[in-house]
Amino acid sequence: MNLTDTINKTDNTDNSKATCSSCEAICCRMKVMIITDTGVPDHYIDTDKWGSETMARLDDGWCAALNRNTMMCSIYEKRPLICREFAMGEDECVSARSNYSEKHYPDTEGKL
Ligand code: SF4
Ligand code: SF4
Repeated sequence: MNLTDTINKTDNTDNSKATCSSCEAICCRMKVMIITDTGVPDHYIDTDKWGSETMARLDDGWCAALNRNTMMCSIYEKRPLICREFAMGEDECVSARSNYSEKHYPDTEGKL
C-alpha cells in the first residue's frame, strides 16, 4: 500500500500501528526528491540549494500536491518514485510518525 492510498486527517493518536487511514499524511510533509521523470507537473517542482529537484512544499510543511480536502495525493498517477516506494508500516513510515508525534502530540510519547 502506498502512502497516499487512503489518507484521512482523523485520529492521530492510535499508537498500536501505522495506518494511512488514521494518519495526518505525515509522509507528505517530508522532503521528496524527484529522481526520475514520472510526470510531476512543473508547478509542483522546486529546486533545492544543491540544484536537485524536489516536490514543492507549502509554508505549513505539506507537499503542494496534497489535496487538502481529501488529504490524498492530487497527482497520484504522476507521483515521484520515492512516494511510490514509501510503504505504510515500514521503518521510514514508523519513524516519520514517531518524530511527528513527539513534536505535535507529546502526550503520545512518540507512539502514533
Ligand atoms: S506516514 Fe505512513 S501511515 Fe502516514 S500516510 Fe504515510 S505511509 Fe501512511
Ligand atoms: S507527491 Fe503526492 S504522495 Fe508524494 S508527498 Fe506529495 S502529496 Fe504525498
